[in-house]
Amino acid sequence: MKQRALTGDRPTGPLHLGHYVGSLTNRLVLQDTHDQFVMIADVQALTDNFDNPDKVHDNVLQVAYDYLAVGIDPTKTTIFIQSMIPEIAELTIFYMNLVTINRLQRNPTVKTEIKQKGLTKKLTAGFLCYPISQAADITFIRANVVPVGEDQLPMIEQTNEIVRSFNRIYGDVLVEAKALVPKIARLPGTDGQAKMGKSLGNAIYLSDPTDVLAKKVMGMYTDPGHIRVTDPGNVEGNTVFAYLDAFDPRVDEVAALKEHYQRGGLGDVILKKRLIEVLENTIGPIRERRKQFEQDKEYVAEANSK
Ligand code: ATP
Ligand code: MG
Repeated sequence: MKQRALTGDRPTGPLHLGHYVGSLTNRLVLQDTHDQFVMIADVQALTDNFDNPDKVHDNVLQVAYDYLAVGIDPTKTTIFIQSMIPEIAELTIFYMNLVTINRLQRNPTVKTEIKQKGLTKKLTAGFLCYPISQAADITFIRANVVPVGEDQLPMIEQTNEIVRSFNRIYGDVLVEAKALVPKIARLPGTDGQAKMGKSLGNAIYLSDPTDVLAKKVMGMYTDPGHIRVTDPGNVEGNTVFAYLDAFDPRVDEVAALKEHYQRGGLGDVILKKRLIEVLENTIGPIRERRKQFEQDKEYVAEANSK
């Protein structure tokens, strides 16, 4: 029997380059080798957007368009909406008994997100517990493989702890899952922050038009110490190089550019222009396919009626 893969995205905005390298490219491979499920996590998105349900509702379709545009094929992959499977919420309730508050508060990704999203003083039970609902997402379908970015590793660890506790108490029912993390495990934001995120205002979207893409790249964080072209520059922590490493297929040329940059004499603008071209090559065809799906009312109506 084929192994089962499950992943998802929160409908908090359209998908971005971080999703592309962090998870979508692996899903394109898995849909040919695995029994694959992809979930639009609207219930989870509400945990930090409960006061803006329209945003979550409207982005369900946006995320679905992005799936189709990157090549997630509904004849190979089952795409579903989390809130349409109420058993996930039911399972979450049972799992809550197996996790201590202390354990939830130690989750490093949740800790970072609480800070980033300014939730420290208004942390809800719903947000703190979302890793438990994620354990329900993964286990209700008995997924063995979860293709995710690095920020999700603590969630998989938490899931497997729940699986072990559950099985110890109630018998051998649940299966453990393995994270499949790609080579570029975490794409930084255009502002140089450690992670590009939909809710962080530092993302390049797969649907961004060429001029928006170009503007975002031109405003990208490089090396603040690299003031004159002749100055030697830092490659470490330089977002433009992080993106070239992730998207530019001409690896040897990128290595030579790094060397030149460190030596001095290579300006940021030349690098950024190259990056715009490289990213346009990745996003351009996705953007075009997305437009076709958006215009294909019949396809969308048929999908909605199912
Ligand atoms: P939000 O800011 O609303 O949390 P997000 O941009 O973090 O949105 P999610 O829907 O939370 O996106 O994440 C979906 C998947 O994409 C996860 O597997 C996550 O690891 C991966 N992912 C998201 N951002 C990045 C990134 N910058 N680099 C690598 N993978 C990423
Ligand atoms: Mg996230």
